[in-house]
Amino acid sequence: MKALVTGGAGFLGSHLCEHLLDQGAEVICMDNFLTGGPRNVEHLIDRPAFRIIECDLTGFVHVPDRLDLVLHFASAASPADYLRYPIETLRVGSTGTLHALGLAREKGARFVLASTSEVYGDPLEHPQRESYWGNVNPVGPRSVYDEAKRFAESLTTAYRQSRGTDTGIVRIFNTYGPRMRPFDGRAIPTFIRQALLGEPITITGDGSQTRSICYVDDTVAGVLAMAGSDFAGPVNIGNPDELTMLELATLVKELTGSSSPIEFIERPPDDPMVRRPDTSLAAERLGWRAVVPAAEGLRRTIAWFVDELSHRHRLERLGA
Ligand code: NAD
Repeated sequence: MKALVTGGAGFLGSHLCEHLLDQGAEVICMDNFLTGGPRNVEHLIDRPAFRIIECDLTGFVHVPDRLDLVLHFASAASPADYLRYPIETLRVGSTGTLHALGLAREKGARFVLASTSEVYGDPLEHPQRESYWGNVNPVGPRSVYDEAKRFAESLTTAYRQSRGTDTGIVRIFNTYGPRMRPFDGRAIPTFIRQALLGEPITITGDGSQTRSICYVDDTVAGVLAMAGSDFAGPVNIGNPDELTMLELATLVKELTGSSSPIEFIERPPDDPMVRRPDTSLAAERLGWRAVVPAAEGLRRTIAWFVDELSHRHRLERLGA
């Protein structure tokens, strides 16, 4: 089995590369290092079945190898990143997806698109089922990401229907775990970083908005179950345990033993009020559901952040 992971040097992509290698696959990681980096996969470099190619998916893309699977994960994903790179995000979701689909078609490979719960926008249906069409503001600041993913879903569906490509779409809900960047702006790395450094833990709005958080190993298992099936989807991959942001911040504070105060700051525009996947389709079609409880996943993530922040601190002291 030979797999290409686009965005393979990112947070989710690097975990996918690692799990695929562990399952005996040969893996090509393709990335332009816009929001990820080689450090995320440096522990894989010495494995003979692993190869990394620096390449912008929106430009010319060529892979001489046979491919059985293309996992298309390239795209900025944190709001801070896609607001900094709005055009790049739209380009990778559109042209980049076109190129990845073209490659899968040429090789006769299965293609899996990393879509997102953000296609549901600020949802008017709760929990969100795959049949819900969403409530997205097409000209709001988040639209560069949401609409790029909605377009990518449409393109993927068109390739399946008109070109016969074997495609699948996963709608991933908030995933967290080791190798998230401490400054990527997403709530969990921000809360953990602030708690560990004794800084105020900043919650946007009044903290009553909810998210359902899924530990990375669960998400990876769901994606690989989709990769191994012939199901078109879209299918929700996420953990239905729903927490308010205030509950999440309080849990992080408890688990880190931090004395950081909790502070409330301005809420960004179009920030969804609620988020919870209905995962019955994933259970039925893929036999998959999330199993890692939030407290356990957060403990593992916090342990990684402790190492990461002390590594950074050592580098700073060395003037590197
Ligand atoms: P990430 O930013 O850590 O990883 C994305 C990777 O894509 C980075 O390594 C980046 O350099 C690469 N990339 C961006 N543009 C590229 C281009 N033009 N060519 C080649 N590589 C490019 O983000 P992540 O959290 O790992 O997300 C990965 C994918 O999963 C994204 O498609 C995202 O939309 C999707 N997703 C993630 C989550 C989540 O909670 N992490 C939720 C829903 C969907």
